Amino acid sequence: MNTKKRLLVTGGGGFIGHHLIKRLKADGHWVRGVDLKCPEYETSPADEFEVLDLRRWEDCVAATREGIDQVYNLAADMGGIGYITANHADIARNNILINVHMLEASRQNDVKRFLFSSSACVYAQSKQKDADVAPLREEDAFPAEPEPGYGWEKLYAEEMCRYYWHDYKFETRIVRFHNVYGRLGTYDGGKEKAPAAISRKVALAEDGDDIEIWGDGKQTRSFMYVDDCVEGLVRIMASDYHDALNLGTDELVTINHLVDLVSEVAGKHLSKRHNLTGPQGVRGRNSDNSRLRQVLGWEPSMTLRSGLKKTYPWIEQELRKAGRIADKATVSAG
Ligand code: NAD
Repeated sequence: MNTKKRLLVTGGGGFIGHHLIKRLKADGHWVRGVDLKCPEYETSPADEFEVLDLRRWEDCVAATREGIDQVYNLAADMGGIGYITANHADIARNNILINVHMLEASRQNDVKRFLFSSSACVYAQSKQKDADVAPLREEDAFPAEPEPGYGWEKLYAEEMCRYYWHDYKFETRIVRFHNVYGRLGTYDGGKEKAPAAISRKVALAEDGDDIEIWGDGKQTRSFMYVDDCVEGLVRIMASDYHDALNLGTDELVTINHLVDLVSEVAGKHLSKRHNLTGPQGVRGRNSDNSRLRQVLGWEPSMTLRSGLKKTYPWIEQELRKAGRIADKATVSAG
């Protein structure tokens, strides 16, 4: 039996998309990557890589042309908590356009399966007010009270996937990522997430320095290494499950603990300077993986410490290549 498929990964120039294309190629599939830009740190191994703007309808039609079997729709305007709290209108407009156009172009071009990358930001904010938070079950997204901007557009696009399944029997999969990190991810410039931002600050600091942390550091999250994320994506695409699924770990840590782990991996003793006016997002967020285990018989397993041991040295090496290590002015700029 020929199991080789024709696959499209949108956002293939981004962090998760690039890792996913490498995995799909290693599995023997034909892959088209599409993005506004090529991957930053490596060349894409995709069979075709096209620079397209998926906010535009005709670019979505072009991306899904010529017998694509499955679409992994990862393209999105997004970033860390600083970026998503400062750009509600741009993020909501750009991502709604990408998602509605990609869904309809995929349906018109007879794509067999469409996976939408949603986010834990869809969950009701009132259920995330304590650092010692109850892990979020998929049904906790309703009644709807998501993160402004980014959370609302993700929840709306999830609903669109449900309507396409209900009305057209168009096969959709919905994945809610919880904080993905790893090698080859953005670590600078404003779009980076907490593990990468903290790794950069630790790498740029001298032993004994202090580094700036947004908030009191007692806010909690769980973090998933990118290899687990890619494995989960492939498994969820292959499953028969149409409704939303969490994809994350349930290893809940405070941001202070994350800083301590990164410092330990780096072999540095650093103090924390808490900036209480910095953006922090919800107080606590964790993934309940009961349904994921039930549907897949699998869940992410890499511990945060092990994942940071792979991620931190890569960020340190990138900063070294850029001649930025020991640049104290950059450290205090935070
Ligand atoms: P990323 O920013 O590295 O990748 C997204 C890619 O989409 C970028 O390369 C960007 O250029 C591309 N893109 C943006 N607008 C586009 C457009 N108009 N046309 C074509 N391409 C466009 O982010 P990522 O971490 O790889 O995230 C991938 C997906 O996972 C996104 O949908 C994101 O919302 C979701 N997600 C990620 C996380 C996480 O922790 N990384 C958490 C929750 C959800």
